[in-house]
Amino acid sequence: MLARIVVLAIYGFLIRLLIGLDLVRHGRRSSQRALAGVMFLFAVVALWQALGTLATGAPADYMRPDFIQSSVLFLYMIFVIAAGLFLFLLLNDELVGKLEDEAERDFLTGALNRRGIERALRAEMERSGRHGEPFVLGLIDIDHFKRINDTDGHSEGDRIMCEIVSLAVSSLRPYDYVGRFGGDEFLILLPGTNAHEAFTVAERIRHSVTVRLPTVSVSVGLTARLRGDEIPTLIRRADEALYRAKQEGRNSTRLG
Ligand code: GH3
Ligand code: MG
Repeated sequence: MLARIVVLAIYGFLIRLLIGLDLVRHGRRSSQRALAGVMFLFAVVALWQALGTLATGAPADYMRPDFIQSSVLFLYMIFVIAAGLFLFLLLNDELVGKLEDEAERDFLTGALNRRGIERALRAEMERSGRHGEPFVLGLIDIDHFKRINDTDGHSEGDRIMCEIVSLAVSSLRPYDYVGRFGGDEFLILLPGTNAHEAFTVAERIRHSVTVRLPTVSVSVGLTARLRGDEIPTLIRRADEALYRAKQEGRNSTRLG
């Protein structure tokens, strides 16, 4: 009886300790941390059961009151309720996070939608202002997209748009952003990048489009943030640069 209780308690201790550590390592939400806390408490109780049983011996039979076994049972009852509650909060958190993410994604291309990219833009502007870091905003617009839709069909147009987003994403760093600003126009945000570097990135995107989709091209307007620039100014300058790229023959990048 003693060996069985101790082995099971140590096994329970190790399992709960590992689950708790895993939740601490990978958990970003407060409910995950709380659940990790409950797992550690479970582990402590299991250790208490193992050590207590070793010190005082196993009960002769389970019907007789025994301080160690009864306290373990009582604490488990409390913690099971707490774990259930935190598990519920955790699932709720996950669900809310997923819904929030979906609300900021463009259904067709999977890029951020207007709401998502504007939120990212506000956050990155605030960050670049605080740290005095360079920041570049760009507008990418598909050339003659109406014509592509008319000749190849709307669903081919959709496919091309998705392909362009994935080409843009693979040319950007993980902490850059691409979002659909409206119609066939996409906003890119390049934090910590100067105008020269951003130009190279934009040209890489533009070039990859012409290689992957030989009948399609994009025009890009870029602008680097100067001291005191706010969001409307940056968008206006990028739009003017994009307009120049369109006026001067399309399939090119201009800096405004
Ligand atoms: P340019 O930008 O080179 O001046 O010419 P354009 O033909 O691309 O110009 P415009 O901005 O007037 O046209 C954008 C077109 O994008 C019009 C619209 O039919 C198409 N479009 C907008 N959203 C979608 C979409 O979700 N799917 C498809 N297939 N087409 C779209
Ligand atoms: Mg266009």
